[in-house]
Amino acid sequence: MADTKAKEATISVKVIVDKVNKRVVYAEADYTFVDILFSFMTLPLGTIVWLLEKHDDKKFEGLGSLKNLYQSLENCPESYLPTEECEYMLLNLRTLAYDHCRNLKLQIDNTEPLKYFQCDVCRKGYPIKSVFGTCTTTKCITYGKLVDKDVGFKKTDVCVSGGGVFVSDIGAFIVTDDLCVMPYTSANSIRLLTDHGITDQSCLEDIKLDMGREEVS
Ligand SMILES: [Zn+2]
Repeated sequence: MADTKAKEATISVKVIVDKVNKRVVYAEADYTFVDILFSFMTLPLGTIVWLLEKHDDKKFEGLGSLKNLYQSLENCPESYLPTEECEYMLLNLRTLAYDHCRNLKLQIDNTEPLKYFQCDVCRKGYPIKSVFGTCTTTKCITYGKLVDKDVGFKKTDVCVSGGGVFVSDIGAFIVTDDLCVMPYTSANSIRLLTDHGITDQSCLEDIKLDMGREEVS
């Protein structure tokens, strides 16, 4: 689980609203919010299904087939899988970007880090072939013993420079409601206002939104 501090963190976004037509024109955000948006690209399909199935929202009805696929794997009889670890691995997949995402200001993907296990022979350190597993109910392919000795989780060192995880902190960003992200520049701002047919900026209002994990999700 994400630590308490990360859970309680909030991100502020300034939303530019067209008061006359009662619509959002765009949002101004810093790198912390854009980092989270870009982190969506790193999520395994199974994690996306797992996260979105908690939302009772018609927008996610298109996920129906993927939910079926996820549940089919969950319900697949053990005898139809080569090892129990196959199901566990597919339902708990972690990508190479997992450790990077641990550095996001808000943890959208609050899945647990993968743990690694060995059988008691491999754990003693003199194996013919040392084997690791991620599921404690599987057997070591070298010694045939249960792979149930926790060898811990080693967090990969990730290079974080420039303030952010996936973007640097040198400037602000514009985010539209259909998730177009672009640097905050006068040209981009004016173009979006023009696209919305707005010529009189007095019809605009700024609304500050503080969002926690739930709101961003
Ligand atoms: Zn072993």
